[in-house]
Amino acid sequence: MFDCIVVGGGPAGATAAYNLAKQGRSVLVIEKAGFPRYKPCGGGVSPAIANWFDFDFTPVIKNTISRVKYTWKFDDPVQIKLKNVTPMWMVKRDEFDNFLLQQAINKGAELKDNTEVTGISWQDTQWQVKTTNGEFICSYLIAADGVNGSMTNWLGMPQKQKVIAASLEVSAEVPERRQNLAYFDFGSLKNGFMWCFPKDDGYSFSCAYVRNKKGNPKELKTQLTNFAQKFELDLTQSQYTEYLLNLWQENHPLHSNQALIVGEAAGVVDPLIGEGIRPAIFTGMKAAEAIIQALDGKDSALEGYTNIVEQELGSDLAKANTVAGLFFKFPKIAYKLGVKNPAAGQTMGKILCGELRYSDVTEKISKKLKEAFIPGFGR
Ligand SMILES: Cc1cc2nc3c(=O)[nH]c(=O)nc-3n(C[C@H](O)[C@H](O)[C@H](O)COP(=O)(O)OP(=O)(O)OC[C@H]3O[C@@H](n4cnc5c(N)ncnc54)[C@H](O)[C@@H]3O)c2cc1C
Repeated sequence: MFDCIVVGGGPAGATAAYNLAKQGRSVLVIEKAGFPRYKPCGGGVSPAIANWFDFDFTPVIKNTISRVKYTWKFDDPVQIKLKNVTPMWMVKRDEFDNFLLQQAINKGAELKDNTEVTGISWQDTQWQVKTTNGEFICSYLIAADGVNGSMTNWLGMPQKQKVIAASLEVSAEVPERRQNLAYFDFGSLKNGFMWCFPKDDGYSFSCAYVRNKKGNPKELKTQLTNFAQKFELDLTQSQYTEYLLNLWQENHPLHSNQALIVGEAAGVVDPLIGEGIRPAIFTGMKAAEAIIQALDGKDSALEGYTNIVEQELGSDLAKANTVAGLFFKFPKIAYKLGVKNPAAGQTMGKILCGELRYSDVTEKISKKLKEAFIPGFGR
């Protein structure tokens, strides 16, 4: 019998397990893949996460970003050097996620990988977790099974509509002019955008529909390939993967009977820029805190988790949603007035690096966009 079983060993699950194990709680991580495992992802990580851990991430930081380039349909470029920010980290998800999970194991968490959870049932005072490798029992459950997981469904939580995204990983030598340079293109993918992050030995190209719930996978592949071809790369050795993204839509309960949902399973992905790793880590950390309090007898601890995520993350993601709504309604004007404006470029860079919250800037951004879209607004 474990104090807690965490389903899924990605950043959300590994962080929860790390924090539980560090406090001496018995925790089992059940992961269906064999670790290290590949996860389609740009691998851009806000360095702000370093403040939440007592170990050093240097071994898995493959590159850092200090410049950002933006284009509209590959034209009308603007390039900015990020000022006064800690550069954003570039990681490879197989290495980064494995590193985080190993930290949890070092603190005493147990791992059963290559083991899929196939069902859960509540029995009097504990959870029974059925897997492809037997059954396990725990007091508390954490659903960290990502965008495609079944845990939210099994826990009777509301199901959200997801958007389609894709990634194209290309191995290549990265010339100096492209090192430390993140590149975002708007306009080529309708209702979405594309971005390219350089690593130490190649590039991760990613794209996602932000406002189009259905999307067109064919268009995704065509646009992403076109993006990569602008870099004159040999794509014969590239890896293309389509995946879903569970963008934040609205606040909703993240707790049920002795169970919490975290990370992308909880839909805490930034609806403007698709950032999911930092929110996943934040929720994993807060879920562990709540379960420790609950194990110590605090009745309202799990409800407290929902409230903290709403206050500290949901309120900010709601603001990102407002900006995304305005941006993708008239993207060309928004690009000209917003992204191309040097001050706005710096602001976006600071948000990417985790040094500014949407709450600090939304009013200003919304006012600027409304002035552009609504005749007479603000005059
Ligand atoms: C194309 C693309 C690009 C992206 N780029 C970025 C980026 O640059 N920066 C960023 O911050 N975010 C990015 N994201 C989002 C980010 O990848 C996710 O939000 C993040 O991985 C969420 O972490 P997680 O721990 O919640 O879930 P995951 O990392 O998805 O981990 C969930 C784990 O649960 C396991 N699992 C699922 N079902 C079961 C089961 N039944 N039993 C046992 N285990 C199970 C899975 O195998 C998986 O390992 C991108 C996403 C996409 C699709």
